[in-house]
Amino acid sequence: MATEIKIDEGARRFAAAEQRMLIGSDWVEAADGRTFEVYDPSTGDVLGHVARGGSEDIDRAVKTARAAFDSGPWKDMTASERGRAMHRLGDLILEHGDELATLEALDNGKPLGVARVADVPLAADLFHYMSGWATKNTGSTLSLNVPYMPGAKFHAYTLHEPVGVVGQIIPWNFPLLMAAWKLGPALACGCTVVLKPAEQTPLSALKLGELILEAGIPAGVVNIVTGFGEETGAPLAAHDEVDKIAFTGSTEVGKMIVQAAAGNLKKVSLELGGKSPNVVFADADLEESIPGAANAIFFNHGQCCCAGSRLFAEESIYDEVVAGVADHAKNIKVGSGLDPQTEMGPLVSTEQLERVCGFLDSGQADGAETVVGGGRVGDSGYFVEPTVLAGTNPQMKVEAEEIFGPVVTVKPFKSTDELVPNANQSIYGLAAGVWTNDIKKAHRTAAELKAGTVWINCYNVFDAAMPFGGYKESGWGREMGEEALELYTEVKAVCAQI
Ligand code: NAP
Ligand code: MG
Repeated sequence: MATEIKIDEGARRFAAAEQRMLIGSDWVEAADGRTFEVYDPSTGDVLGHVARGGSEDIDRAVKTARAAFDSGPWKDMTASERGRAMHRLGDLILEHGDELATLEALDNGKPLGVARVADVPLAADLFHYMSGWATKNTGSTLSLNVPYMPGAKFHAYTLHEPVGVVGQIIPWNFPLLMAAWKLGPALACGCTVVLKPAEQTPLSALKLGELILEAGIPAGVVNIVTGFGEETGAPLAAHDEVDKIAFTGSTEVGKMIVQAAAGNLKKVSLELGGKSPNVVFADADLEESIPGAANAIFFNHGQCCCAGSRLFAEESIYDEVVAGVADHAKNIKVGSGLDPQTEMGPLVSTEQLERVCGFLDSGQADGAETVVGGGRVGDSGYFVEPTVLAGTNPQMKVEAEEIFGPVVTVKPFKSTDELVPNANQSIYGLAAGVWTNDIKKAHRTAAELKAGTVWINCYNVFDAAMPFGGYKESGWGREMGEEALELYTEVKAVCAQI
């Protein structure tokens, strides 16, 4: 069913109004009254102002979340009531779809149409899916065999309890959806939350805060503190009354989160960077795999942790794949997220623009061949050309490091034996793609790749039921699916002699 795509004027007003943070049921200024600017990445102009939280605000939000966890109505709601409120939240996200999608297009720069058919319904579905787990995250009964107590009988069982007060720190590439991935399982398990959105894109999370209260999730269960990483994220990660911290962002900051969490040994889960291999075998259907490989890197302007940024094509079809992906790249319409013709918007910020252009310069200096693209588009807004680089090697920064922009390296390979070690040659292990019509080769290769998700004859397929997360330096733990419940559950073993 096609969704009609509309720019929502309410979203423009929301973006322009000075936005406060959510603590309990109150929309509050920062304790010191400071604010920060949010920008429209398609122009670089100021879009609005948002409260700039600091450690005092984090402390207040954590204490509010603690009170809501220990004694609020949340604790006394049945799992079924909790699930119903979460389901209503999913419905409200759909009802406010135009507004949320417009906020994403304004704040992040992504095409409105993409936000409307992907980010918004995926966020709603996450809450709908997780609402069902609220009643099903239960323990089990155990049968014991205690050798030094012959003949003794026991009734033993496990209880699944919420881990407590959770800090959640999210990035800017899918602002609403990342909030949903984090909040959904935490709420299903009965936790309370302090959420810190990325400074670049706080708006949709604040709108979500309104919907959370409207859905009947009690005040204090979700608190949203906006601000900068060092000022707001760091004190949240270090806070002694936070029982668990969940982080999505760069591997560099992920390591800082681990250090900060060491103080009270709070539990940590991490969704970090990637440099994912995408492999096209000679027997693949090239009419599917060439656009598939282009979408794998260029979707969301390459600002996907799982972007298929290292493309491998079997030797006999290498030239055809390179030409096909380059052709695709050339034809992508780059422009403002609000222009209905736009297929690729700007990067999110001037920092990202400089970072990605820095990688393009380093590729040139290292001798990579630019097949297509290779530079900035225009001189206002943060636009970068979809870029294909050939002739790279693993020592080059463009092949070794995560660029987080619309830049793919492409290399030929001779055999699966040669491919697998090269594909796995990365500090990351988030995702991978395999394109082939040979069913045995597909599953054998999937088994060999060190990645948390392997897509076969598709890429960037997400579902609330399918766990997502990384091997190696791509992170700890899995979000979505049943696996996500583990991140927010304490297991208690109860053993009674009877
Ligand atoms: P980032 O700098 O790591 O920021 C991510 C979040 O952490 C933001 O909310 C940020 O706040 C906050 N932060 C920054 N410094 C912090 C600190 N010292 N303590 C606590 N929090 C801190 O990442 P980014 O460059 O904005 O985002 C892109 C990165 O995220 C990429 O590397 C990408 O791979 C990764 N990512 C991973 C996934 C995944 O699921 N695996 C998904 C999306 C993105 P500020 O915004 O104020 O800096
Ligand atoms: Mg940042």
